[in-house]
Parts: sequence; structure tokens; C-alpha cells
Amino acid sequence: MFNLVLFGPPGSGKGTQSENIVKTYNLQHISTGDLLREEVSRHTPLGTEAKKYMDQGMLVPDEVVIGMISSRIDEIPDARGFIFDGFPRTRHQAEALDKLLEFKQTKIHLVLALDVPEPQLIKRLIGRGETSGRSDDTEEVITKRIKEYHLKTQPVADYYSAYGKLEQVTGDHTVAETFASLAKHINKYLLPVT
Ligand code: ADP
Repeated sequence: MFNLVLFGPPGSGKGTQSENIVKTYNLQHISTGDLLREEVSRHTPLGTEAKKYMDQGMLVPDEVVIGMISSRIDEIPDARGFIFDGFPRTRHQAEALDKLLEFKQTKIHLVLALDVPEPQLIKRLIGRGETSGRSDDTEEVITKRIKEYHLKTQPVADYYSAYGKLEQVTGDHTVAETFASLAKHINKYLLPVT
């Protein structure tokens, strides 16, 4: 098994690059943002609770997302590996993920961090807001999401860096160029299937 965390601020291109990685390496994509939005659209109790945080650009409580991740991992027992997108977002989530994977006798092998200058992030997210229909892609909520990222999520990079698992990749070139840089790192662990 090979498990990858795709790390980076909102708007850094994690979703887009995850799609490319999934196709090339046949990994299972787990995006907490997508899972949460699915709960919201199905009006589940979890979704209703999560929406309060998401609409304010705040992180959903750790217990909620950790539980969600745990059941998703269990649903796909024969995965070649997982790509975690938008998770872990706090140090507590990172520690919980390590425990979950340890229980499955596996681990996080690599963390790829997409690096994009902040003005470009804001421009991208506002642009996306015009077409995405996402209620959190407004200027006010975007600013809050980036603040949450610096405060709570940035420390996750240090957590993985201490284990020597973190690699920085420039994320402000073309989608293809960024993917090529990511692939260079993944190829050290896993052969492409396509
Ligand atoms: P982005 O990376 O562009 O902010 P996401 O789809 O990853 O978009 O996340 C959207 C929102 O969902 C976040 O602002 C947060 O409220 C919630 N969320 C997603 N993943 C997590 C997580 N791992 N922990 C807590 N909240 C999360």
C-alpha cells in the first residue's frame, strides 16, 4: 500500500491534482471537503452540523472528520493506496490518521505540499466562486479559510517534516507542469498504471 497526503492552502489545486494522481496511479481519493459537501446536500445530521462551520470558513470539529475518514478507509479494504486531500488539517487529525493507518499495518509514505503565493490563491478562489456554486467561495469566507489554514493547518507540515516525509512543490505553474513535479516524487514509491 502507498498512502499520500496532498497538502496545501485552499485554492492551491489539491482537487485538480488529485484527479490526475488518481488516474495515473490508481489510488483511492479521499477528500474531506467532498465528503462533507455530500453530507450537507443529503441533509444528514452530520451535514447540518458541519455546514455551520463550513459557511463561516471554519474547520469542522476534529471528531467529525476523523470518524468520517475512518469509515471511508474501512469501505475500501483492497485499495492500492489512498490520497488524502484536505485532510489532515490539524495536528490532532494527523495523529489520528497515523493511528488509523497503523491499525491497518500501513502508514503515510509521502506528503506533497503545494506552494502557491497568497494573492494568486485569493484570485483563483474568487474566480471559482463565480462558477462553483460553493457557498464558501465568497471573499469574506475565503479570507477566513486562509486564516484558519495559517493558524491550524500549517503546523501539520511541521509534523510531517519532523518525520522527513514532507516535500514542497511549486503550485503556480500550469496544471501539467505541477503534476509533473508531483509525479517525480511519487515515482520514487509507485509505478504509474497508465
Ligand atoms: P478548500 O481546501 O478549498 O478550503 P475543502 O473542500 O477542502 O476546500 O474544504 C471546505 C470546508 O470543509 C473547509 O473550509 C472546512 O470547513 C471543511 N473541511 C474540509 N476538510 C476538513 C478537515 N479535514 N477538517 C475540518 N474541516 C474540514
